[in-house]
Amino acid sequence: MRTPVVAGNWKMNGTQASVQALVEAIRTGADAQWKSAIVLCSPFPYLQLVADMLVSSRMALGAQNVSEFGAGAYTGEVSASMLQDCGVQYVIVGHSERRALFAETDAQVADKFATAIAGGLTPILCVGETLSEREQGKTLSVVETQLAAVIERVGVESFAKAILAYEPVWAIGTGLTATPEQAQEVHGALREMIASRSSDIASGVRILYGGSVKAANAGSLFACPDIDGGLIGGASLDATEFLAICQAAG
Ligand code: PEP
Repeated sequence: MRTPVVAGNWKMNGTQASVQALVEAIRTGADAQWKSAIVLCSPFPYLQLVADMLVSSRMALGAQNVSEFGAGAYTGEVSASMLQDCGVQYVIVGHSERRALFAETDAQVADKFATAIAGGLTPILCVGETLSEREQGKTLSVVETQLAAVIERVGVESFAKAILAYEPVWAIGTGLTATPEQAQEVHGALREMIASRSSDIASGVRILYGGSVKAANAGSLFACPDIDGGLIGGASLDATEFLAICQAAG
Protein backbone atom coordinates (compact mmCIF):
# COMPACT_ATOMS: atom_id res chain seq x y z
CA MET A 1 0.00 0.00 0.00
CA ARG A 2 1.52 3.33 -1.08
CA THR A 3 1.09 6.31 1.24
CA PRO A 4 -0.21 9.23 -0.83
CA VAL A 5 1.75 12.46 -0.99
CA VAL A 6 0.41 15.97 -1.53
CA ALA A 7 3.18 18.48 -2.24
CA GLY A 8 2.56 22.21 -2.57
CA ASN A 9 4.84 24.10 -4.97
CA TRP A 10 4.59 27.78 -4.09
CA LYS A 11 6.89 28.75 -6.96
CA MET A 12 8.26 32.31 -6.73
CA ASN A 13 5.43 33.68 -4.62
CA GLY A 14 5.05 35.07 -1.14
CA THR A 15 6.47 37.35 1.51
CA GLN A 16 7.56 36.48 5.04
CA ALA A 17 4.15 37.61 6.28
CA SER A 18 2.11 35.70 3.68
CA VAL A 19 4.19 32.53 4.09
CA GLN A 20 3.76 32.69 7.86
CA ALA A 21 -0.03 33.10 7.50
CA LEU A 22 -0.29 30.30 4.94
CA VAL A 23 1.73 27.78 6.97
CA GLU A 24 -0.16 28.66 10.13
CA ALA A 25 -3.50 28.10 8.39
CA ILE A 26 -2.39 24.79 6.86
CA ARG A 27 -0.89 23.59 10.14
CA THR A 28 -4.07 24.44 12.04
CA GLY A 29 -6.34 22.86 9.45
CA ALA A 30 -4.38 19.66 8.75
CA ASP A 31 -6.17 16.69 10.25
CA ALA A 32 -3.99 14.33 12.25
CA GLN A 33 -6.11 11.45 10.90
CA TRP A 34 -5.10 12.01 7.27
CA LYS A 35 -2.59 9.40 6.29
CA SER A 36 -1.07 11.19 3.31
CA ALA A 37 2.30 12.90 3.56
CA ILE A 38 2.07 16.68 3.15
CA VAL A 39 5.07 18.56 1.78
CA LEU A 40 5.42 22.34 1.48
CA CYS A 41 7.95 23.42 -1.17
CA SER A 42 8.99 26.94 -0.27
CA PRO A 43 11.17 29.47 -2.09
CA PHE A 44 14.74 29.40 -0.75
CA PRO A 45 14.58 32.59 1.37
CA TYR A 46 11.67 31.27 3.43
CA LEU A 47 12.91 27.71 4.01
CA GLN A 48 14.21 28.37 7.51
CA LEU A 49 11.06 30.23 8.49
CA VAL A 50 8.91 27.32 7.31
CA ALA A 51 11.25 24.76 8.89
CA ASP A 52 10.84 26.47 12.25
CA MET A 53 7.06 26.53 11.85
CA LEU A 54 6.87 22.84 10.92
CA VAL A 55 8.69 21.57 14.01
CA SER A 56 6.43 18.92 15.63
CA SER A 57 3.90 19.16 12.80
CA ARG A 58 2.85 16.29 10.50
CA MET A 59 4.18 18.17 7.46
CA ALA A 60 7.56 18.12 5.76
CA LEU A 61 9.61 20.80 4.07
CA GLY A 62 10.59 20.77 0.42
CA ALA A 63 12.65 23.01 -1.87
CA GLN A 64 11.96 23.79 -5.51
CA ASN A 65 15.45 23.34 -6.94
CA VAL A 66 18.93 22.11 -6.04
CA SER A 67 22.32 22.55 -7.63
CA GLU A 68 23.82 19.55 -9.36
CA PHE A 69 27.16 20.60 -7.83
CA GLY A 70 28.58 20.24 -4.33
CA ALA A 71 30.21 23.08 -2.40
CA GLY A 72 32.43 25.56 -4.20
CA ALA A 73 32.55 28.42 -6.65
CA TYR A 74 28.99 28.22 -8.00
CA THR A 75 27.65 31.72 -7.40
CA GLY A 76 23.91 31.78 -6.84
CA GLU A 77 23.51 28.03 -6.46
CA VAL A 78 22.18 26.10 -3.45
CA SER A 79 23.55 22.65 -2.66
CA ALA A 80 21.80 19.54 -1.36
CA SER A 81 23.79 19.69 1.88
CA MET A 82 22.73 23.33 2.45
CA LEU A 83 19.10 22.31 1.98
CA GLN A 84 19.47 19.42 4.37
CA ASP A 85 21.14 21.74 6.87
CA CYS A 86 18.00 23.92 6.78
CA GLY A 87 15.68 20.99 7.51
CA VAL A 88 14.63 20.28 3.93
CA GLN A 89 13.59 16.67 3.20
CA TYR A 90 12.22 16.86 -0.37
CA VAL A 91 13.25 18.71 -3.50
CA ILE A 92 11.51 19.16 -6.85
CA VAL A 93 13.76 18.39 -9.83
CA GLY A 94 13.00 18.69 -13.52
CA HIS A 95 9.95 20.92 -13.17
CA SER A 96 8.81 21.95 -16.65
CA GLU A 97 9.33 25.63 -15.80
CA ARG A 98 13.00 24.89 -15.09
CA ARG A 99 13.31 22.78 -18.23
CA ALA A 100 11.63 25.42 -20.44
CA LEU A 101 12.67 28.75 -18.86
CA PHE A 102 16.12 27.82 -17.54
CA ALA A 103 17.08 25.31 -20.24
CA GLU A 104 17.64 22.41 -17.86
CA THR A 105 18.46 19.33 -19.89
CA ASP A 106 17.59 15.71 -19.14
CA ALA A 107 21.26 15.16 -18.22
CA GLN A 108 21.28 18.10 -15.81
CA VAL A 109 18.03 16.95 -14.24
CA ALA A 110 19.57 13.50 -13.79
CA ASP A 111 22.61 15.07 -12.10
CA LYS A 112 20.36 17.08 -9.78
CA PHE A 113 18.41 13.93 -8.93
CA ALA A 114 21.66 12.09 -8.16
CA THR A 115 22.93 14.95 -5.99
CA ALA A 116 19.66 15.09 -4.09
CA ILE A 117 19.74 11.35 -3.35
CA ALA A 118 23.42 11.49 -2.34
CA GLY A 119 22.61 14.43 -0.06
CA GLY A 120 19.85 12.54 1.75
CA LEU A 121 16.97 14.43 0.13
CA THR A 122 13.94 12.84 -1.54
CA PRO A 123 13.74 14.13 -5.13
CA ILE A 124 10.33 14.70 -6.69
CA LEU A 125 11.15 14.13 -10.37
CA CYS A 126 8.76 15.87 -12.78
CA VAL A 127 8.13 14.58 -16.28
CA GLY A 128 5.52 15.65 -18.81
CA GLU A 129 4.75 16.50 -22.40
CA THR A 130 3.85 19.76 -24.10
CA LEU A 131 0.54 20.18 -25.91
CA SER A 132 2.14 19.80 -29.31
CA GLU A 133 3.90 16.62 -28.20
CA ARG A 134 0.55 15.24 -26.99
CA GLU A 135 -1.13 16.18 -30.24
CA GLN A 136 1.57 14.37 -32.17
CA GLY A 137 0.98 11.23 -30.08
CA LYS A 138 4.39 11.51 -28.42
CA THR A 139 3.30 11.67 -24.77
CA LEU A 140 4.59 8.29 -23.68
CA SER A 141 7.86 8.54 -25.60
CA VAL A 142 8.56 12.00 -24.11
CA VAL A 143 8.01 10.90 -20.51
CA GLU A 144 9.95 7.69 -21.13
CA THR A 145 12.96 9.66 -22.42
CA GLN A 146 12.83 12.00 -19.40
CA LEU A 147 12.53 9.10 -16.96
CA ALA A 148 15.14 6.93 -18.69
CA ALA A 149 17.75 9.72 -18.48
CA VAL A 150 17.48 9.58 -14.69
CA ILE A 151 17.32 5.79 -14.43
CA GLU A 152 20.41 5.45 -16.61
CA ARG A 153 22.29 7.95 -14.41
CA VAL A 154 21.35 6.61 -10.96
CA GLY A 155 19.83 3.15 -11.46
CA VAL A 156 16.24 2.14 -10.91
CA GLU A 157 16.90 1.29 -7.23
CA SER A 158 17.18 5.02 -6.50
CA PHE A 159 13.44 5.26 -7.06
CA ALA A 160 12.98 3.50 -3.72
CA LYS A 161 14.01 6.89 -2.27
CA ALA A 162 12.30 9.17 -4.78
CA ILE A 163 8.90 10.34 -5.97
CA LEU A 164 7.81 10.74 -9.58
CA ALA A 165 5.38 13.41 -10.75
CA TYR A 166 3.55 13.38 -14.08
CA GLU A 167 2.90 16.99 -15.00
CA PRO A 168 1.54 17.58 -18.50
CA VAL A 169 3.00 20.98 -19.44
CA TRP A 170 -0.26 22.05 -21.07
CA ALA A 171 -2.07 21.60 -17.72
CA ILE A 172 0.34 23.57 -15.53
CA GLY A 173 -1.10 26.88 -14.41
CA THR A 174 -3.57 26.87 -17.32
CA GLY A 175 -6.74 25.71 -15.59
CA LEU A 176 -6.77 22.73 -17.99
CA THR A 177 -6.49 19.40 -16.20
CA ALA A 178 -5.81 15.98 -17.64
CA THR A 179 -8.90 13.83 -17.30
CA PRO A 180 -8.51 10.97 -14.83
CA GLU A 181 -8.36 8.62 -17.84
CA GLN A 182 -5.60 10.62 -19.55
CA ALA A 183 -3.62 10.88 -16.32
CA GLN A 184 -4.07 7.21 -15.41
CA GLU A 185 -2.88 6.13 -18.86
CA VAL A 186 0.43 7.95 -18.37
CA HIS A 187 0.81 6.98 -14.70
CA GLY A 188 0.22 3.34 -15.57
CA ALA A 189 2.76 3.56 -18.39
CA LEU A 190 5.36 5.19 -16.11
CA ARG A 191 4.89 2.42 -13.56
CA GLU A 192 5.29 -0.16 -16.35
CA MET A 193 8.51 1.52 -17.50
CA ILE A 194 9.90 1.14 -13.99
CA ALA A 195 8.48 -2.39 -13.65
CA SER A 196 10.38 -3.47 -16.75
CA ARG A 197 13.54 -2.84 -14.67
CA SER A 198 12.25 -3.76 -11.19
CA SER A 199 8.72 -4.81 -10.26
CA ASP A 200 9.43 -4.21 -6.55
CA ILE A 201 10.49 -0.61 -7.10
CA ALA A 202 7.54 -0.04 -9.45
CA SER A 203 4.97 -1.24 -6.94
CA GLY A 204 6.35 1.02 -4.21
CA VAL A 205 7.10 4.26 -6.05
CA ARG A 206 4.64 7.11 -5.55
CA ILE A 207 3.59 8.81 -8.80
CA LEU A 208 1.94 12.19 -8.27
CA TYR A 209 -0.23 14.03 -10.77
CA GLY A 210 0.31 17.77 -11.25
CA GLY A 211 -1.49 20.25 -13.48
CA SER A 212 -4.27 22.55 -12.28
CA VAL A 213 -5.34 20.24 -9.46
CA LYS A 214 -8.07 21.87 -7.38
CA ALA A 215 -10.34 20.69 -4.60
CA ALA A 216 -13.04 20.10 -7.22
CA ASN A 217 -11.04 17.65 -9.38
CA ALA A 218 -8.63 16.11 -6.83
CA GLY A 219 -10.94 13.30 -5.72
CA SER A 220 -11.49 11.86 -9.20
CA LEU A 221 -7.77 12.04 -10.05
CA PHE A 222 -6.64 10.51 -6.75
CA ALA A 223 -9.14 7.66 -7.16
CA CYS A 224 -7.12 6.32 -10.13
CA PRO A 225 -5.10 3.22 -9.25
CA ASP A 226 -1.70 4.59 -10.26
CA ILE A 227 -2.13 8.17 -8.97
CA ASP A 228 -0.63 8.46 -5.50
CA GLY A 229 -1.36 12.10 -4.72
CA GLY A 230 -0.58 15.44 -6.31
CA LEU A 231 1.95 18.15 -6.94
CA ILE A 232 -0.04 21.32 -6.49
CA GLY A 233 0.97 24.75 -7.80
CA GLY A 234 -1.54 27.61 -7.73
CA ALA A 235 -3.99 25.92 -5.38
CA SER A 236 -1.26 25.39 -2.76
CA LEU A 237 -1.21 29.14 -2.10
CA ASP A 238 -4.76 29.00 -0.75
CA ALA A 239 -4.91 27.15 2.58
CA THR A 240 -8.58 26.17 2.28
CA GLU A 241 -8.15 24.82 -1.23
CA PHE A 242 -4.88 23.04 -0.38
CA LEU A 243 -6.36 21.42 2.74
CA ALA A 244 -9.35 20.19 0.73
CA ILE A 245 -6.93 18.59 -1.75
CA CYS A 246 -5.04 16.94 1.14
CA GLN A 247 -8.33 15.64 2.49
CA ALA A 248 -9.17 14.17 -0.92
CA ALA A 249 -5.87 12.27 -0.82
CA GLY A 250 -6.97 10.71 2.46
C1 PEP B 1 3.15 22.92 -10.76
O1 PEP B 1 3.69 24.00 -10.97
O2 PEP B 1 3.83 21.94 -10.41
C2 PEP B 1 1.71 22.83 -10.95
C3 PEP B 1 1.16 21.66 -11.01
O3 PEP B 1 1.04 24.04 -11.05
P1 PEP B 1 -0.56 24.24 -11.12
O4 PEP B 1 -1.16 23.36 -10.04
O5 PEP B 1 -0.76 25.69 -10.82
O6 PEP B 1 -1.00 23.84 -12.46
